[in-house]
Amino acid sequence: MATKYIFVTGGVVSSIGKGIATASLGRLLRNRGYTVAPVKLDPYINVDAGTMNPYQHGEVFVTDDGAETDLDLGHYERFMDVACTALSSITTGKVYSSVIAAERRGDYLGATVQVIPHVTNEIKSGITKLAKEQEADVVIAEIGGTVGDIESLPFLEAIRQMRADNGPENTMYVHVTLIPTVGPWHEVKTKPTQHSVYKLREIGISPDVLICRSDVPLPDDVRDKISLFCGVAPKQVIESLNVQTIYEVPLKYEEAGLGERVCERLGLEFREPQQTGWQELVATLKHPKHHCQIAVVGKYTGNGDAYKSIAEALVHGGIPNDAGVDIKWIESDGLENGCSMEELLAETHGLVVAPGFGARGVEGKIRAIQYARETGLPFLGLCFGLQMAVIEFSRNVCGLAGANSEEIVPNPPYPVIHLLPEQKQVKDKGASMRLGAYPCNLTAGSLAAKLYGGTRISERHRHRYEVNNDFREKLSEHGMAISGVSPDYRLVEMIELPGHPFFIATQAHPEFKSRPNRPHPLFEGLVRAAVKRLTAAKVG
Ligand code: GLN
Repeated sequence: MATKYIFVTGGVVSSIGKGIATASLGRLLRNRGYTVAPVKLDPYINVDAGTMNPYQHGEVFVTDDGAETDLDLGHYERFMDVACTALSSITTGKVYSSVIAAERRGDYLGATVQVIPHVTNEIKSGITKLAKEQEADVVIAEIGGTVGDIESLPFLEAIRQMRADNGPENTMYVHVTLIPTVGPWHEVKTKPTQHSVYKLREIGISPDVLICRSDVPLPDDVRDKISLFCGVAPKQVIESLNVQTIYEVPLKYEEAGLGERVCERLGLEFREPQQTGWQELVATLKHPKHHCQIAVVGKYTGNGDAYKSIAEALVHGGIPNDAGVDIKWIESDGLENGCSMEELLAETHGLVVAPGFGARGVEGKIRAIQYARETGLPFLGLCFGLQMAVIEFSRNVCGLAGANSEEIVPNPPYPVIHLLPEQKQVKDKGASMRLGAYPCNLTAGSLAAKLYGGTRISERHRHRYEVNNDFREKLSEHGMAISGVSPDYRLVEMIELPGHPFFIATQAHPEFKSRPNRPHPLFEGLVRAAVKRLTAAKVG
């Protein structure tokens, strides 16, 4: 079978959930047993998302092969249960870098290098390379930004050309738009959608399906109007209402007939969608038996997207525990002014200290960890969170006053966290950290090994600093167990405190590998401990 291509564009406004729409569409195909390869085409000039501030752009998602990508890849992995690679992220920066490098090598010798065909060819070859390498039945390509943006034009031109290259029977355009309501009677308005479809048509793309985000159900006359003005059959107008949990979106799409529409349009054989497991997990998410609260301390808590994968991993961790997880976001700076930890954390049942960079808010994170260690509050430290836990323990248990990370102060009296040796010569900031999946060995019998159900694991990384081996013995002597190390024993990967109800931290980013149907064991364990604390409090 020839590879099928679905292109997802967005209209009217940004942030209408194009990433979730793309991911959900992928789920529908996975439910039918098709192999799906997602790709995000990002119009920004950065080569990758690694150098962008999470406050502005949301979290930087890391793949197994160490690409620093847009957070939408996280949605793809979670909904489709696939592992993306660097090929799933194409940016203007990457495209131009390789076109310019090819020009310098002389690959185009004689030619005037232009957006069409050189840049568009580079975009198309990125998409087809992904299709080949992943042997995908279907490639779903999401184009970042909103139709009408200057930046996305070369990407739209490339996907327009792909219909001629691959045939209309193998290509499909899905446009996600917003149907707003106005006035006191909440009148449903289709004009913005009409205009965004005109804009697409100007470029030469006619959508096959419209996914219409709306706060209210679309009346039939509105659906007919959209159909008439936008040139899509009424049954190709898919209503997308707000839902209680994002994981409900694929179920709603299936109900609205999107799965069938896609198969019809692309000539994919009809298969009954297998979605019982997904339905069950959504049912648990909507009506959990327990409700626990977990505090997440970080420094970008003002933007919900900055810790997207952590928030989702906590939600996933609730599913096997039949628990809804309410996240209490705590800005780490706010913990530095001597406020009462008791007041802030007494009502919470667990604590996550988030990954991070730089000095801002560090002392707040350390105070929160001290509180968790001393009061038995379940704690999970992620990357920087592990480093902060080591600093806290060094200072307050090992008696190493002033212990710190070299990232925070230049020459601390006890540099318990220091630069990885391979980082010493690194000058460039882009793609230069210890990135991607690395194996780790766990101590048999440790909490980590129990949670993972084995002693050999692999997790994704994104850091420059590590635990200083000169202090390993001191930490162990005082009761901190180093329960995970790199296979060469050189790097501390996990620590824990035996005797504490749940105190564990990892140098990796386990949040990237959690899925609703396969919750990550560390998050599942944290929520289990949180529920235990909650029920104990109720009994007590
Ligand atoms: N800033 C720390 C380091 O570079 C931790 C990074 C992180 O939390 N991702 O090692």
